[in-house]
Amino acid sequence: MKFSTKAVHAGQVPDPSTGAVMTPVFLTSTYVQEGLGKNKGYEYSRVSNPTRTALEKNIAALENAKEGLAFASGMAAIDAVFRLLNPGDHIIVSNDVYGGTYRIAKMVLENYGLQFSFVDTTSIDNIINAATLKTKMIFVETPTNPTMTITDLKSVAKFAKERKLLSVVDNTFATPYLQQPIDLGIDIVVHSVTKYLNGHSDMLGGFVATNNNEVIQKLRFSQKAVGGIMSPFDAWLCLRGTKTLAVRMKQHCESAMIIAEWLSRQRKVKKVNYPGLKKHPQHALAKKQMKHFGGMISFDVGTLANAKKFLKSVKLCSLAESLGGVETLISHPASMTHASVPKNERIKNGVTDGLVRISVGIEDVEDILQDLQQALKKI
Ligand SMILES: *Cc1c(COP(=O)(O)O)cnc(C)c1O
Repeated sequence: MKFSTKAVHAGQVPDPSTGAVMTPVFLTSTYVQEGLGKNKGYEYSRVSNPTRTALEKNIAALENAKEGLAFASGMAAIDAVFRLLNPGDHIIVSNDVYGGTYRIAKMVLENYGLQFSFVDTTSIDNIINAATLKTKMIFVETPTNPTMTITDLKSVAKFAKERKLLSVVDNTFATPYLQQPIDLGIDIVVHSVTKYLNGHSDMLGGFVATNNNEVIQKLRFSQKAVGGIMSPFDAWLCLRGTKTLAVRMKQHCESAMIIAEWLSRQRKVKKVNYPGLKKHPQHALAKKQMKHFGGMISFDVGTLANAKKFLKSVKLCSLAESLGGVETLISHPASMTHASVPKNERIKNGVTDGLVRISVGIEDVEDILQDLQQALKKI
């Protein structure tokens, strides 16, 4: 089955008791057992729930993965993946990952004995040089947030296989519509489904997709033991979202391309980061590895004062954290998503004080452009 068909149908069968076409929200904590040790596959909703199962099958199919697990948030999913390892183990992470990933690594998991090195993963040599005998995992984001750099997933997967390391990709920005890391040899895909997969900014969720049986087993155990699971209602909302993922992504990509090109022509914009632009340093790699270039753009308006004025002046674009919804959201990474990254690290990674990030929505692109134009005029 092709992608859009799977998006609508995978994991979902009409409800056997009523024929309901849509998977119901199974608001239940427990399930009647026919006898000791005899049940219909469900015992307690921390372990599994039919609405969550439908979503897990749906997104796993989109990622071409054998299995998927839905978590309460992207961070809960990432935490569970890092905790596959043991104290003393070392993990190589892309240096401009999502701020929360940096935060959980440095401020939570290092206290439990995991070690992290943040390197520029756009060069495989940096990964090779950072690997030690204790390295057990490589965790990359591509495109990165918010500077939109691209990491070559095939070479990461190849190196990880050679050294028997787990390779992990945070595929939140690209979504499986644009990029399917497992097909490129990556072991584990993680998502904040809060973003594009849900697509309507009305729930929080995380996801892990993988073909690795040992990882599946360990994560299922983690869900049962720790309980960082997605609720049935959130799973249902997300199922509504994934059905339209393909059509939404097409529009996000088309409008983002138009906006990125327009921004590059503006005198007040110093730099535009968008993998679809020919001048993006990894444009060729993005073209090879992704189907299109996504709906996220960042651009530099020079100074903090300019960024403040610009963000205060936008009307249609909402100033907010998060991304991937149908509405256009605009944010200031340095003071919002990346506030927990130390200033020198942040600047080194290109997250300057004048950097503005835009999550291009599916409104009419002319209206978005008009809003950006009037706001740029104010600086
Ligand atoms: C938002 C985000 C996360 C965290 O997900 P939550 O659902 O907010 O917990 C992780 N990675 C990326 C790339 C994100 O954008």
